[in-house]
This record gives sequence, structure tokens and C-alpha cells, in this order.
Amino acid sequence: MIEEISPDLFRIQVPLPNTPLKFLNSYVIRSPRRSLIIDTGLNHDICFEALQTGLKQIGVDPSGADLFITHLHADHFGLVSRLATADTRVYFNRPDAEIIESWEGFGPMLEYAGHNGFPVDRLRAALAAHPGSRFGSEWVPPLEMLADGDSIEAGPYRFRCVSTPGHTLGHMCLYEPRHRLLIAGDHILIDITPNIQCWSDAENPLKAYLESLDKMAGLDVARTLPGHRRLMADPRPRIAELQAHHQARLAEVLAILAEGPRNAFEIAARMTWDIQADRWEDFPVAQQWFATGEALSHLRYLEEEGKITRFTAGEGVRFSLEE
Ligand SMILES: [Zn+2]
Repeated sequence: MIEEISPDLFRIQVPLPNTPLKFLNSYVIRSPRRSLIIDTGLNHDICFEALQTGLKQIGVDPSGADLFITHLHADHFGLVSRLATADTRVYFNRPDAEIIESWEGFGPMLEYAGHNGFPVDRLRAALAAHPGSRFGSEWVPPLEMLADGDSIEAGPYRFRCVSTPGHTLGHMCLYEPRHRLLIAGDHILIDITPNIQCWSDAENPLKAYLESLDKMAGLDVARTLPGHRRLMADPRPRIAELQAHHQARLAEVLAILAEGPRNAFEIAARMTWDIQADRWEDFPVAQQWFATGEALSHLRYLEEEGKITRFTAGEGVRFSLEE
């Protein structure tokens, strides 16, 4: 499905087969000079064909377009290798690029998950089927780094880059003040909650995410263009909901720990999730993985706030309300 949201700014809905996200919203700015494609879809024939068909319908030749990618996840970055030519400028951010450059597979994440109580053998099998490993970009062209506050022009639009770490370390939104448009990537979504996972003790992604939400709340926006699902008008009501959601989650984690010390996997099993399964044991392993990463982002936040402590016994990490 294609719609013109604003003059020469289109949304192409790219289907994401077998994912609960359903679609990726690719935004395209048509210009007689260089067009701009913002986010692409998985490196999957279904995505590629949907995007190509959409571009053709609006008269954009991909070889005359540049790319802006909000963050490194495969549903946004995946088609870069099929779209980029020698002339394409691919705009991206430094922190996510460093993750791509230093990527050595899921090993460190698996080890971290194991220390936090996750049954690693089940996870290893699930990761082999994960869209991120199967449908990522085949190669990474030279990337042009943009930083917070940089500008990027396309057609009649002049966007300002707004760095919004949280969903990933380097996630970046685009704000167009004159047209009051916000390209939000996966920072602000409606109907679904952006996933904030933590798989390293060096990070505090939930803190970064909440700070990035505060940053957004100060922008004057009439239309919010997210990476999935439907568009929003002013994002502030949704920002308030997302903030409240995470405060409630933090309280839930503290209530679980009031029963006694637990590891992250056990805590995730006791949290409430919007997943259609009666028992934690019946969750697909990929969902357990997301849930545990999400639990860990809340645990890291509470730990840095000084509200909980960890203790390590053997290989395992447990969290506790006690000093
Ligand atoms: Zn996404």
C-alpha cells in the first residue's frame, strides 16, 4: 500500500513475512535530483519486490536515490545491499555502525544470556532461525555518518537528525520543523511498544530510551511517521504512555524482587507479557529471549538507580532488593 503523506513524501508498506510487526514503513521523498528512501525492509524477496513495485508506482528509480537508515535492525537495514549502487549515499549513525563493524555473531549475547539464567541451547537454535541472521544485508556499503543536529535535505524537506538511543545504541530520527514532521523509526510506535533490550553490563538502554523520549517531547510535531504500524499526529500523548508503561514495568520488577532474589530469566517469567500463551513455558523461545532482554534493561536501570543489587554465584547473576 502506498500513500502520499505530504507533497512528494510517500509511505510504502513493506510486508514483513512471519513477524508480529506485519509491515515496515518505508518513507520515500521523491525529488528530480536525488530521491531519499528512509528504511528498507528485510533482505527477503517479498520485501524487495514490494519496495520495487512501490518505487515504480511513484516514479522513483532506486539507482537515483540515497538511503537513510534509522537503525541497524534487519527489517530496516536489510535491503541496503540490494539497493545501493556505487553512487548511492547511505546515511547512518556511528554507534550502530560500530556494532555492525565489530559483529562477531551472537556469541557474547549468548554468554550474557546464559549468565542471566537463560537456557542457552534452546536460544542458540532459535537464533539460527531469527530474521536478523537470515535476512540481514549481504554486505555493507560505505556509510556516511550523521550525528545529532546534522541536516539532510531531500526534495522540499530539510530534516534535522535527532539522535534517540534506546531501541538501539545509535537509533536516529529525522525532524522536519517547517512541515512539523517526525520520522520516528522504532523510537515511538503505536499499538506496539518499542522493544528495549539489554545484553551488556556496559549499557543502560532504558535510561537512554527514557532520555530520548524526553528529548522528543520538546519538538513541535503535527505528524509522526513511525517505522511500523500506523501514523500518529502529535507524538506527545504516546510518549506519555510509553513513559508510564516503563514506570509500571520498573514497579513490577521491584514487586517481583520483593518476593526474594531471582535471575533475569526468572524475573521475565513472572512479568506480564502481551503474548498469546497461558504459561511462560509455552512462550516461543524467541519471545522468551525478547522478554528476558527487556527484563534486563529494567534491571540494569534499577541497579544504576541504586534500587537493587546483584550478586554473582558461580556463573550466574541474581538480583535482589537487599544490600
Ligand atoms: Zn523495526
